Amino acid sequence: MTEPNRVRPGNGCPPWCTADHRTTGNVHRVEVGAARVAGKYVPVVILQTPGGAPSVVISGPVFVEVHPDDQEDMARLLDLADQGELAGLIRQAADVTGGGVR
Ligand SMILES: [Zn+2]
Repeated sequence: MTEPNRVRPGNGCPPWCTADHRTTGNVHRVEVGAARVAGKYVPVVILQTPGGAPSVVISGPVFVEVHPDDQEDMARLLDLADQGELAGLIRQAADVTGGGVR
């Protein structure tokens, strides 16, 4: 993960947030990392809207928000599909958000 951005318009960023809030508005965001899947760049990000809980999202080329109850199973499925790099990113994001992966 990159260093937290210092551009914070006083909206109480969580410690993991690296968003430039000039572009994300009031949405907190960090890119945990990106995996290569079949030649495609597949980033895993954490997003949090005001008043909401942080969510783990596969954000390209598809957009999949992985519910906390499903993060462990998603990581296991990706491992079974020989996508260990992406599985690791899901687990890393889940650790940051306090999600279900152990
Ligand atoms: Zn923020």
